[in-house]
Amino acid sequence: MKKHNFSAGPCILPQEVLLKASEAVMDFNNDGLSLLEISHRSKPFVDVMEKARSLALELLGLEGKGYKALFLQGGASTQFLMVALNLLEKRAGYLNTGTWSDKAIKEARIFDDVYEVASSKSANYNYIPKGYEIPSEYDYFHCTSNNTIFGTQMKSFPSCDIPMVCDMSSDIFSRTLDFTQFDLIYAGAQKNMGPAGTTLVVVKEDILGKVSRKIPSMMDYKVHIDKGSMFNTPPVFAVYVSMLTLEWLKNLGGIKAIEEQNEMKARVMYSELDLNPLFKGYAVKEDRSLMNATFNLTNDNLKETFETMLKEAGISGLNGHRSVGGYRASMYNALPLESVKALVEVMSELETKA
Ligand SMILES: *Cc1c(COP(=O)(O)O)cnc(C)c1O
Repeated sequence: MKKHNFSAGPCILPQEVLLKASEAVMDFNNDGLSLLEISHRSKPFVDVMEKARSLALELLGLEGKGYKALFLQGGASTQFLMVALNLLEKRAGYLNTGTWSDKAIKEARIFDDVYEVASSKSANYNYIPKGYEIPSEYDYFHCTSNNTIFGTQMKSFPSCDIPMVCDMSSDIFSRTLDFTQFDLIYAGAQKNMGPAGTTLVVVKEDILGKVSRKIPSMMDYKVHIDKGSMFNTPPVFAVYVSMLTLEWLKNLGGIKAIEEQNEMKARVMYSELDLNPLFKGYAVKEDRSLMNATFNLTNDNLKETFETMLKEAGISGLNGHRSVGGYRASMYNALPLESVKALVEVMSELETKA
């Protein structure tokens, strides 16, 4: 039986996507060859790459607005340094809202000066700082839209005169936003878009080419743009499965449609959390993430009972990250509402038992 998969990443993918992907591994396009054994320069694969790139821009509403979409390798972690290499000349401003922002700051500091415009580190990142200044002489501002580990999410973004770079690894394609406010968006595929192995980068071309350093080819966005995201052999499987997921999302009605489902799932989850005295949420209410709900038991003695009940209900992937502890329910796009209902049922059953 298929489990209720609350894994934080790699994450749940739509069943129909998994089915199509497994078919393509055996026989792609009824061609008698596997997707994994054809040339990435062949027309069938070039079509896949082009479709994935254009679907990404279309779903974000960024078509014809000066943006290019790339499917790169090295994970979001490589973007931490690639962003700095391509955009950091003197000084950049970073908002520190979690482990991933902290790592992005650490990497950028290798190249130049980084200023933390605000940080919630001293509160172990249970909220999103607000009301900070972003000096207009900085090269860019960097933020993390959703903090996967701590379960906080930026509900709005500062208006800023300099390029805005955003790590959207764990909430890309999950909610409607004016994506034109960003100049560079990146997201590891494995949280909300596909399998591990590729990273989506959406970049406004006119912010590039302004730093004086030499950039190694593999690290240079311009090189990847010029080569149609095929400077070297792309991760064909990860790109194909991402394309299938984006197609699935488009057929569903796009980001607007999935946003309604995500809001519904989060409502069901958080109202149980607020009503049930056996549980306590980790993130402050106003900054709670629609994607990752973090919480703890108020009575540790119930741990074993709760976890046995979860197992019996087929609920998987609920362990919190080691830096927070407790539990984390990741409710990415492909997670059905019925899975959240199954979890909430266990939580309320525990209350009647206790
Ligand atoms: C998981 C995650 C990362 C790291 O992604 P990798 O692809 O493993 O490098 C970066 N940022 C955020 C917000 C994440 O959730």
